[in-house]
Amino acid sequence: MKTTKAYSAASATAALASATIQRREPTERDVQIEILFCGVCHSDLHTVRNEWSSIMATTYPCVPGHEIVGRVTQVGNKVSRYKTGDLVGVGCLVDSDHSCPSCQANVEQFCPGAVFTYNSPDKHGTAPVTYGGYSESIVVDEGMVLRVPLNLDLAGVAPLLCAGITTWSPMRRWGDIKGKKVGVVGLGGLGHMGVKFAHAFGAKVVVFTTSPGKKEDALRLGADEVIISTNAEEMKQHAGSFSFILDTIAAEHDINAYIGMLGLDGNITLVGAPETPLPVSAFALLSGRKSLSGSLIGGIKETQEMLDFCGAHNITSDVEVIPIQKINEAYERLLKSEVKYRFSIDMASLKD
Ligand code: NAP
Ligand code: ZN
Repeated sequence: MKTTKAYSAASATAALASATIQRREPTERDVQIEILFCGVCHSDLHTVRNEWSSIMATTYPCVPGHEIVGRVTQVGNKVSRYKTGDLVGVGCLVDSDHSCPSCQANVEQFCPGAVFTYNSPDKHGTAPVTYGGYSESIVVDEGMVLRVPLNLDLAGVAPLLCAGITTWSPMRRWGDIKGKKVGVVGLGGLGHMGVKFAHAFGAKVVVFTTSPGKKEDALRLGADEVIISTNAEEMKQHAGSFSFILDTIAAEHDINAYIGMLGLDGNITLVGAPETPLPVSAFALLSGRKSLSGSLIGGIKETQEMLDFCGAHNITSDVEVIPIQKINEAYERLLKSEVKYRFSIDMASLKD
């Protein structure tokens, strides 16, 4: 066991605070990683505040963080793909059963034995649940470790491990979106990556935002048009015109307004995970044979493909780098949709 510095929450209403946790010694299949940067996902906030209690209640203390970039410090004797000194990434998964149909189909996130990076039962028994990346180091099964392109800024790479893959995966799955009209709803951590990818794939990208102040940024990030979603006139003009819409909103909202934007056979994929259910109008879907889907992060193989694509096309997340001591303030700003467009924690600050 190794004593490791971390930031954890003691309850749903407590602030995150400095703590120590135990990490296991690497087993033969494990990679031990010194964490350099960790992105701040809205899922961290939902989990810390137990907002998903009806689906997966939070076990405390809770150490969030699943957008991890770091350097390998030790490997088990059966690890073949990584060695000490390698730059690597870890996203939302730290292990799976490696053998079920989902693992064989490269969608480990749906494996019944999937172990998520935090708040997941810890099968090694080091702690009641897994502890995430707001910490000095982490120990991860080799199969869940990703290679990081060496040409990119590491603070901006960290968010690719969740925000990146979560927006990449449904867009890829929807097929070739080149030349098609694609909507991205919500310009936050996920949304801004969705805009970058949709633009890189050659789509005509329209951003829906509640924040008029983000309009110029949206255009700079790759949007062709920006709609202020609170303006009914602007919304009306786009009715029935989209092939695909990615909904990244973290809070309660009227999804029927966006279903109404879809054209014949159009699809809206939900990646945002609000605390409360969203009522869906059957008639909004029936007329035009539209579909509503969900998508959860992505498998390891496609995450590596996404990282390689980002390396080749120089794509990273737009980040505001913060010391870990600013994390509680960062959560408050996340709730006000103020972040541009992802906080990335410089983990060297944990040594202060
Ligand atoms: P974020 O950075 O907070 O962005 C969410 C954006 O949604 C905000 O920037 C804001 O954009 C918009 N928004 C917020 N409240 C709103 C409201 N009341 N009405 C309308 N729009 C609102 O969050 P994130 O990290 O991108 O995560 C977004 C959601 O995806 C969270 O629920 C998170 O848990 C979930 N998530 C899901 C997966 C998955 O695998 N499916 C993975 C990661 C995260 P504007 O200012 O542009 O309106
Ligand atoms: Zn996330």
